[in-house]
Amino acid sequence: MELGWGPDEEAFRAELAAFLDANAPPEALGHDFAQDEGDGGIPQWARDWQARLFDSGWLVPGYPPELGGRDATPAQSLIYMEELAMRGLPRALHFPGYAIVAPSLLEFGSDEQQALVPAALRGDTVWCIGMSEPGAGSDLASLSTRAVLDGDTFIVNGQKVWTSYAMWAQMCFCYVRTDPNAAKHKGISVLIIDMDTDGIDIRPLRHLSGNAEFAEVFFEDVEVPVTNVVGDVNDGWRITMGSLAHERGGLWVQGVSGLEHALGDLVKLAKATGRDTDPVVRRKLAEAYVTVHSLRALGYKGFSSFAQGSSAPEHSYLKLATSEQGKALYELGVEIAGGPAIVTDNDWAPGSGRWMRSFFTSFASTIAGGSSEIQRNIIAERILGLPRG
Ligand SMILES: Cc1cc2nc3c(=O)[nH]c(=O)nc-3n(C[C@H](O)[C@H](O)[C@H](O)COP(=O)(O)OP(=O)(O)OC[C@H]3O[C@@H](n4cnc5c(N)ncnc54)[C@H](O)[C@@H]3O)c2cc1C
Repeated sequence: MELGWGPDEEAFRAELAAFLDANAPPEALGHDFAQDEGDGGIPQWARDWQARLFDSGWLVPGYPPELGGRDATPAQSLIYMEELAMRGLPRALHFPGYAIVAPSLLEFGSDEQQALVPAALRGDTVWCIGMSEPGAGSDLASLSTRAVLDGDTFIVNGQKVWTSYAMWAQMCFCYVRTDPNAAKHKGISVLIIDMDTDGIDIRPLRHLSGNAEFAEVFFEDVEVPVTNVVGDVNDGWRITMGSLAHERGGLWVQGVSGLEHALGDLVKLAKATGRDTDPVVRRKLAEAYVTVHSLRALGYKGFSSFAQGSSAPEHSYLKLATSEQGKALYELGVEIAGGPAIVTDNDWAPGSGRWMRSFFTSFASTIAGGSSEIQRNIIAERILGLPRG
């Protein structure tokens, strides 16, 4: 049994490590993924970093060079995730363009739409995803934003909500209902909407953490050319799962590494506050250590199936497990930090506000991209074969 990487993979890792050591901006290193981006938009260092990764073939290594990659294998893509996560390095601070829109357009877009892909990957165009609505979240197929064809233009009316980066985006990848008489999953289309079009009103929403990085987006008689439909009209449901397929086997790495970083910081916090002698704190830290290391082992087990072309049910569980474990770890941080945890002013309580902010922000990953309850339903029905609840 081979439990290590081969020489090709290690050579790939060494080349990547040399690039990251020489180029990663100091602002990016040790990025706390449990923190959100704040109100200030996408910082220039993050835009420059994403562009540099693209230009150097290190943005999506599994893609060819013209798409910011180097035709890396799935194993090399996993190593890429490991190296970035180990350094706490983000690729970009706005993911929809490179992680969702680009692969979706490559698979379903017209030639004209595929021409938008390099800018989406490089971050030159900021995209937002218009899926959720006040009446359609987990049950996305209930969406009611209407697009009515008038000649060669769709007229869009309705509302989206929780639209990340809408305030800074130039383009929206927007799910609309084009046939209200069809069954729920049919009659949905995806439109590319220029966010500068008349009739779009963007109202930022504030997170529990106090920052605003997503928004409500209102559409009133917004005109969209029919050529902006992605794929076929009324066939948008097929486009709901776009993602970087070759990276799917390694998406868990960031979650698990984030937990490892947080756990390391928790141990330091326990020592600094003298709580490391408290038997309850010690037990919780030890339990978390066992869980986090089990999650990493499970991730590699799933990757092994993925690399051999089989499905990896372990990975369905890892999104649920890492987001819930993150919430528990940050809550433990608040508990260990004690009273000062609620003080977010560093002058009064150095570093302690980090735990409260991260705890607040940690709820987001148990909701975004499919809530924990929905993940449990998927595991129950599709993996365990249990009847629909
Ligand atoms: C940080 C963040 C960023 C986001 N960014 C975007 C974005 O860019 N674009 C976008 O379109 N959306 C975005 N979302 C929205 C996200 O996709 C939705 O919040 C999510 O799909 C849940 O939908 P909802 O909020 O309407 O909750 P609901 O679907 O109304 O769910 C409410 C509660 O009921 C539970 N529930 C619902 N259905 C079931 C069921 N069948 N069985 C058991 N329990 C159930 C849920 O788990 C949840 O606890 C973002 C969300 C967050 C937190």
